[in-house]
This record gives sequence, C-alpha cells and structure tokens, in this order.
Amino acid sequence: MPAFSLDPPQTAWCAELRALAAERLRPLAEKGEPGHVNRPLVAELGQLGLLERLFTSGAVDLCLMRESLAYACTEAETALALQGLGAYPVHAYGTPAQRERWLPRVAEGSAVAAFALSEPGAGSDAAALELRAEREARRLGEPGGLGEPRELGELGALGGPGELGGPREPGELGGPGKLEGPGRPGEPGGPGKPGESRKLGGAGDSPVASLAAEPDGPARWRLTGEKCWISNAPEADFYTVFARTTPGAGARGVTAFLVPADRPGLTGAGLDMLSPHPIGSLTFDAVPVTADDMLGEADRGFRVAMGTLNLFRPSVGAFAVGMAQAALDATLAHTAQRDAFGGKLKDLQAVAHQVAEMALRTEAARLMVYAAATAYDEGAPDVPKRAAMAKLLATETAQYVVDKAVQLHGARALRRGHLLEHLYREVRAPRIYEGASEVQRGIIAKELYANMEAGQ
Ligand SMILES: Cc1cc2nc3c(=O)[nH]c(=O)nc-3n(C[C@H](O)[C@H](O)[C@H](O)COP(=O)(O)OP(=O)(O)OC[C@H]3O[C@@H](n4cnc5c(N)ncnc54)[C@H](O)[C@@H]3O)c2cc1C
Repeated sequence: MPAFSLDPPQTAWCAELRALAAERLRPLAEKGEPGHVNRPLVAELGQLGLLERLFTSGAVDLCLMRESLAYACTEAETALALQGLGAYPVHAYGTPAQRERWLPRVAEGSAVAAFALSEPGAGSDAAALELRAEREARRLGEPGGLGEPRELGELGALGGPGELGGPREPGELGGPGKLEGPGRPGEPGGPGKPGESRKLGGAGDSPVASLAAEPDGPARWRLTGEKCWISNAPEADFYTVFARTTPGAGARGVTAFLVPADRPGLTGAGLDMLSPHPIGSLTFDAVPVTADDMLGEADRGFRVAMGTLNLFRPSVGAFAVGMAQAALDATLAHTAQRDAFGGKLKDLQAVAHQVAEMALRTEAARLMVYAAATAYDEGAPDVPKRAAMAKLLATETAQYVVDKAVQLHGARALRRGHLLEHLYREVRAPRIYEGASEVQRGIIAKELYANMEAGQ
C-alpha cells in the first residue's frame, strides 16, 4: 500500500475538475428542476468525457472525480455517481449485447441509469428483498413461442403457483425493449410531480387468454413487487433491478436484471426529499424479463450488488470529503474577514481551534478514502472492511464539518440559497444510503473477527 499523496497530474486534474464544475456544470445545475433528472447536466458530464471514465478508470479516479465535483457542484457529482451506480453492474456483469446497447449511451449522457435494490420492507437488510421474479412459460403464438399446446404435465413441470394462472400483460418477452427517453416534467411521458404515479412506457394492457409452456429455451420471469428510494426513478431509461428468484434463500436467491424503463407493467412515482434529489419508487406489475436481461448468473445477484457497492462505497466517502472541504474553505474565508470583538473571528482561539479540528478530520477522512480506493484498485483482500471504514468515517466527518461550518457562519448559513444551507441538507443522506453508518460498523466488526479466526 503506497503512502498517500496525489501525484502532480492527479492534483492538476482535480483542479481542472473543480473549475469545470464551477464554470460549466454549476450553471446547468442551477437551471435544473429540483427533484428531477437534469438531462442537460448529464449530457454535459458525457460531453466532458467524465461519464466514460466511470468505465475506464479505477476507484481512485472515481473518488477524485466525486470529491472534485462535490466541492463545486453537488448536483453534478450526484448525476455522475448515479450513472455509475446504475450502469456499473452492466459494465462488470452484463452480456456483450447489454453492454453494447447501453454503455455508449450512458457514457455520452443520453441514457440515464438507476440501481434498484431497496424496498419498503428491505433497506439495510437488503437480503430480505421480496420483489418476486416468478418463472413463466412462453405463450402460444409469440415469436419463439410454441406452435402447439403442450400436455398439462409439461405445463406443471415448469413451476409453482401463480406462474401460469390469471391474465397477464402482453408485450415483449424477448430481447431488450425499445428505448423511449422520458419527457421533461409536465410533458406527456414526463416525470410528473413527486408522488404522482406514471407509466414508464411499454405496450397495451389486453390480457392473454391462453398460456403454453416450454420445458426448454430461455428462462422467463415476471417481476412483481415494489422498489423505493431509487435514485433517478422514475425518470431513468433503465434499471438494474434485484429480484428474488428463489424464495426463502436469502442473499443466495436474488438475481439481477437489466430492466428498460419501457417494459410493460413498470410504473413509478417521484419522492420529495429534504435535499432535492431525483428519487422515486417503482411498481412492478408482472414485468416480463428473460435470461437475456440477467446481469450475472441466476441467484447470484447479491454478488452483483455487493461488488458494485464495494467500488462505490469509498466514493460516497469522496463525495462527503468534497462537501467537507467546501464547508471548511467557506469557513476559513468567513472567519478571516468577519469582525468580532475588536478583531476578526479567526483571532478567537475557540474559533481557530474549531477550524483546525475541521481540517484535521477532513484530511484524515480523505486519506482513508484514498486508501480504500487504492486497495480496491490493487485487488487487496480487505476491500470490504476498508470500503466500509472509508464510507463511515468520511460521511460522519462531513456531517461534523458542515455542522461546525454552519455554527461559525451564524445566521447567514441558514438563509435559503446559502452554500452551507445547501450542504447542511445535502450531507445528511450519505450517512444512510449505500449502507447506514451502523451497517458499516457491522461490516468492519465482522471482517475483523473473521480475520482473527482465520489467523491473519
Ligand atoms: C437520498 C437517498 C438515495 C437513495 N438511493 C438509492 C438507490 O439509488 N438505490 C437503492 O436501492 N436504494 C437507495 N436508497 C435507499 C438506501 O439505500 C436505504 O435508505 C438504506 O439502505 C437504509 O434502508 P432504510 O432507509 O430502509 O432504513 P432501515 O433499514 O429501516 O434502517 C433504519 C436505521 O436502523 C439502523 N440500523 C439498520 N440496520 C442496522 C444494523 N444492522 N445495525 C445497527 N443499526 C441498524 C440504522 O440507524 C438505520 O439508519 C437511497 C436513500 C436515500 C436517502
């Protein structure tokens, strides 16, 4: 593990990214509608070549991008991170056809990705997820379906209750669906208001009367259930969806699917959060998927989720470090010029020591983030522990630093539109998503005891 100091090209790149964020991305972010995907901003991230780098560079570069963008434009940082979170499973676990279809558009910023793991009843305990992926048979008359009805015995061979019964929505069961970019808020097909449910696309609703089963051929499932707190939903163009393919099997019975937004039966609604964030819930009403939509192997979807989170967790820490640094720099500037008690605020030792503590903790968190990212890039065995430590320390530190910054700015920090008012709201969620701080402590402890037992 190398000592941590960025080399000169990395330092120069970070400065360039901060300038781009301030000059080119911030104006676009300001024109966006709070709580909705800002497509011009995503397209500009693509234009600048930053989205491409999500798939061509390692964890350290990802952290440098997130930290630098967060410093000057949290909206740009978040848009970049969400493209990575939603599309990384396609990059790392997708088939050549899936990669070819989606990744170029993600990289240019014309397709928006989302990562759909959380459910109303399964947040921290993600292995308890219940979105059902029920196997189904092919239907008569469908392309690739059967020309002749099979014997009942063959139908029964395909599986359990609910698989063959009841009317279903028709629509494509084969390859990926047609891509329909969502409209702007308020437009037909646009995202609508938070809480307002909307259909994401797809075919009509007439029921299919007869079903027939085929004992071989590609596997097919219907997805039924709900996802919630999904960033970029319901406006994303595709979702990496984690669904239960084997009931009762916990983490070992989950499969990841790439679900285009226009699949029939997929609807969603926006959610209004403390800090405006494109986020919503998704409802799956017998949404058809096939083996061609799978990311990785059947029942191994939890590996896809955890592999993705191991990469992204340190970078959540980098996001937090960028915000902490912005709060620290604002505090340095403010306390150096604010008159108080016959001098400046910085002349009060109680103030100066708080600023020193903010800087100390921010730097410690930054080093922890870089260490975790380097461990990831080197394929070190202790990545889960380091990733958890980095995310935990950096997000808790940023909360501390931003809170102190608000305190040292006084009332002006709480005025709507002030940088610190924005950061104060923005800094809260990362302590909860991608594993709450308590969950990170659980991971760290588990890894420590496992290593002890293994005699390492
Ligand atoms: C802004 C935002 C964006 C998000 N984006 C996405 C997304 O894109 N995709 C997605 O799938 N999800 C997303 N989420 C959901 C997020 O991952 C969940 O909120 C998170 O996993 C926690 O789940 P929960 O909210 O249901 O809380 P719960 O699981 O109900 O936990 C509540 C609290 O209980 C405590 N707790 C839980 N487990 C433990 C434990 N093991 N030990 C000790 N204490 C514990 C913690 O204090 C925790 O905060 C997002 C959330 C937010 C706020």
